[in-house]
Amino acid sequence: MQYDVTVIGSGPGGYVAAIRAAQLGMKVALVERYPALGGTCLNVGCIPSKALLDSSELYYTAKKHFAAHGIKVSGLDVDWPAMLRRKDKVVADTVAGVAFLMKKNGIAVYEGHGSFADARTIAVTRSDGREERFETRNTIIATGSRPAALPFAPFDNKYLISSTEALALEKIPEQMIVIGGGAIGLELGSVYARLGNASACWNSWTPSFPTWITQWAKSCKNPCSVWE
Ligand SMILES: Cc1cc2nc3c(=O)[nH]c(=O)nc-3n(C[C@H](O)[C@H](O)[C@H](O)COP(=O)(O)OP(=O)(O)OC[C@H]3O[C@@H](n4cnc5c(N)ncnc54)[C@H](O)[C@@H]3O)c2cc1C
Repeated sequence: MQYDVTVIGSGPGGYVAAIRAAQLGMKVALVERYPALGGTCLNVGCIPSKALLDSSELYYTAKKHFAAHGIKVSGLDVDWPAMLRRKDKVVADTVAGVAFLMKKNGIAVYEGHGSFADARTIAVTRSDGREERFETRNTIIATGSRPAALPFAPFDNKYLISSTEALALEKIPEQMIVIGGGAIGLELGSVYARLGNASACWNSWTPSFPTWITQWAKSCKNPCSVWE
């Protein structure tokens, strides 16, 4: 088999490039090592974090603001497993949308780890070790990024976790320190700060920590502190 373009990585960088190349009339292959397309953004990034932000905001609004509107609520509680199930469904629906787009645009999807056998030959190694090879005239490398561990405190997936684990915790933690005051830290910290017991603390050692974030976090109703 020979393709005009092979894209390695099915995140927003990869799948959009694959669609565009197909729209321009090229024969396109997409290689993704995970069964679910969509990369970090759809599976463990933008989409699940927004689903949890949405759910936690609804809970927080009902808890903190409904009374002022004359709305009485009794028995308000968080069903965390149900919240996670909804998040997982949002992810699954979105991932299915990308698979549909691949099919619609005639893009051949290969599941496995993509590498170069030589400049024009792509090797795809599946999880069972089997390898498939094909020719390609051009290749787009869109392999994205992964969470970076602190050099002095590697992830142990129990006490020190990355954003990926924070999107699927078994229960809501009573305390949490979020290291890093960027968008991801603020989003996931907000989710757990809103859901009740958790107190989220944002810690950033970067001098560029934006002032508005410091002010916003200090004004949170939940116990929440910011260290710079
Ligand atoms: C919690 C969180 C929330 C976020 N929220 C937002 C947001 O609201 N808005 C926003 O714009 N961005 C957000 N981001 C960032 C966004 O997820 C990334 O910018 C985006 O996913 C980058 O896309 P990408 O295609 O470059 O890489 P990725 O999405 O990382 O995709 C790369 C893909 O390549 C695959 N891959 C890697 N190596 C190989 C290989 N050798 N063979 C086969 N496949 C391979 C990986 O499995 C992966 O699927 C968020 C990130 C996180 C973690």
